[in-house]
Amino acid sequence: MNAKMPVLFVGHGSPMNAIEENEFSLGWRNIALKIPRPKSILCISAHWETKGIHFTAMEKPETIHDFGGFPRQLYEVRYNAPGNPDLAGEAQKCVIDEENSMDFKWGLDHGSWSVLRWLYPEADIPVVQMSLDYTKKAGWHYNVAKNLARLRENGVLIIGSGNMVHNLRLVDWQNTDHGSDWAEVANIRIRNNINDGDYRSLTEYDRMGAEMRLAVPSPEHFLPLLYPLALKEESDTITWFNDKVVMGSISMTSLLIEPVNTLI
Ligand code: ZN
Repeated sequence: MNAKMPVLFVGHGSPMNAIEENEFSLGWRNIALKIPRPKSILCISAHWETKGIHFTAMEKPETIHDFGGFPRQLYEVRYNAPGNPDLAGEAQKCVIDEENSMDFKWGLDHGSWSVLRWLYPEADIPVVQMSLDYTKKAGWHYNVAKNLARLRENGVLIIGSGNMVHNLRLVDWQNTDHGSDWAEVANIRIRNNINDGDYRSLTEYDRMGAEMRLAVPSPEHFLPLLYPLALKEESDTITWFNDKVVMGSISMTSLLIEPVNTLI
């Protein structure tokens, strides 16, 4: 029907990025200009882990403030994008061989809305969230993600939202604008693997050295990266953006995967 939609991985970082005009929110605003307007968005957020895969299937998802200790202004943010039960159903069909269910209780967590409000500030594109099954290993996530490929042909923008490097215990408040040495090494290692097209190694990130074990102390922020990578077609190109490690241990590095522009 239509040209294939791009796929996106975003490093979302601190919830404060939702309300701060900074280099990252600017990066998100700019990248949206490169993406054809989607009919709908399917977002895999680090902040929704369940047993089995769940899809938000309500008409009007709530804005969830799933964090503590931030300024009131952040709790007042609402991202009132509609849901899309039809898309939830379509996505469910893609993973029909796996344990899955429709969800009517969750909504949009900050992994989604802290970024979406910069990408699409009008909140007029329907959004469905897809959860991460915490009982499964990285290789399973990579394989399941491949089943979502046909959604790209139906105007759906698939977004993985996490952080390639994410270790809250090792946040360095004196070093807000850089990564610690190990974090920079891990970030480069991940980027090199992606540039080399070696995504399979990333599904065994715990075998990629001590720096990677520090970078991914728990899988939930790393797994959303595997979804866009699994959906990359051979001829798709990769554009890196927001490529920076901050606070010692959080990588904001993000990538846009898009079909080659045949008009040029
Ligand atoms: Zn997060």
